Order: sequence, then C-alpha cells, then structure tokens
Amino acid sequence: MIPIKNSHEIDAMRKSARLVARSLGLAGSRIRPGLRTVELDEEIADFIYSNDAKPAFKNFNGYPANICVSVNDQIVHGIPGNRVLEEGDIVSVDVGVELEGYFGDSARTFAVGQISNEKQRLLTVTEAALIAGIEQAKEGNRLHDIGHAVQQTAEQAGFSVVRDLVGHGIGRALHEPPEVPNFGNPGSGPRLQKGMVLAIEPMINLGSHEIEVENDRWTIITRDGRPSAHFEHTIVITDRDPEVLTKE
Ligand code: MG
Ligand code: MG
Repeated sequence: MIPIKNSHEIDAMRKSARLVARSLGLAGSRIRPGLRTVELDEEIADFIYSNDAKPAFKNFNGYPANICVSVNDQIVHGIPGNRVLEEGDIVSVDVGVELEGYFGDSARTFAVGQISNEKQRLLTVTEAALIAGIEQAKEGNRLHDIGHAVQQTAEQAGFSVVRDLVGHGIGRALHEPPEVPNFGNPGSGPRLQKGMVLAIEPMINLGSHEIEVENDRWTIITRDGRPSAHFEHTIVITDRDPEVLTKE
C-alpha cells in the first residue's frame, strides 16, 4: 500500500522539505575548489540541528555521516571526509532531514568552479530528467510514467539511467512504499493518487549504467569510472500539478 497523506501531514512535510532545500542552498554557497567534503557535512549538520531538526541519514542503516557527498564517478552515498574538491569536479550533495517526525529528501549535483562542457551537459540533462519525471507525477497517471519520462530524457541525450537504485515514497519514514524507478514502461504500475508523497531521484551516468560499490561498502561508483549526476526532489501529488516540497 502506498500511504496517502492528509493536509496536516503535508503541511508538516512542507516544513521538513523546506529545511532540506535551504540546506542544499547553503551547500551551493560553500562549494568551491579547496573545500574538504567533511567541512560541508559539519556545516550542514549544524544548520539542521540549529533548526530543531535532525540529519536523517545519520546512522540510517549504520551510515556514518550526516549527508552524502559524491564526487565525479561517485554516484551516491559518498561519505564526507578529507577529500578536497578540485576545480572541474562535479559534486552531488544529498540531504535528508527529520523535523517533527516527518522526513524530507533532496539532492543536487553542483559544479566546482569551471567544468567541462560534457559534465555541464550531464548536469543539465539530469535536472531536466527530474523535471520530466515530476511532470508525470499527477493523479490518474501510473507510477512508471514517471520513470519512463526520466529514462526518455536521459537516453535521448545519450546518457544512461542507473537501475540498481531507485526513488521512494517518504513521510514518517525516510523510505516508504513505493519504489520509484527511473526507467519503465508508460501506463504501468500503481495508479497515482492525490496525497502520495514521493522522492523522485534520477541518477544519470555519462557512460554505462553499471555500478560498483567502493571498499567503504557505502559509496556507489560507476563501473567505467565516468561521471554521474543526481538530482532529487520530494513532491506531493495533488489534483492539479504536483507540488515540489523541497524548494526554498
Ligand atoms: Mg536523497
Ligand atoms: Mg531519496
């Protein structure tokens, strides 16, 4: 069963999601060549705690940091540490927050200084794929209409969709049903209804879709070593256009 949220719950989720968006805004204002990824983790955690909320990823299934910071060929779940961002890197920042019992989740890939045209195109297309997916998240559509739109956008640009990791429902838990793949056949899957809240999160690779896990057992990387991008929003399905909750 896919949980349906009432208007009170959606109000609460607007608050947690907005704090996630503000956290990513803060991340964007700090990212520059020379920044250690752990500095980003600490500053965002401080910001979240100062807003009476908790970083949702901390200790989630044993995850050791507050946020995820994934650089270049790292797709997701990069653990912040002593790595120093360099000019030309792309860095995916994924933030989850728990506020008054409700979760929000959003991610964005940032450019570090000047990046190659190829990397810029990957960022532009991945964000466009997210938006195309969100546009399909409306009452009466089917779940896989979302993934199909993401996949079309990415593959038409010559990129590939990560298949082993998916989006998810979200609410009183960080991960709720359903799984939200970034690929699929249109017109298939459960029917979407007003009040469903989903985290839609395409992970798009410049090369092949295949992944590996690094020795830290968390960081997911591309098998071919080429860059990957990740954009995510928490949205709610309404009887009109979907509402993006993770916006400032
Ligand atoms: Mg996330
Ligand atoms: Mg997520």
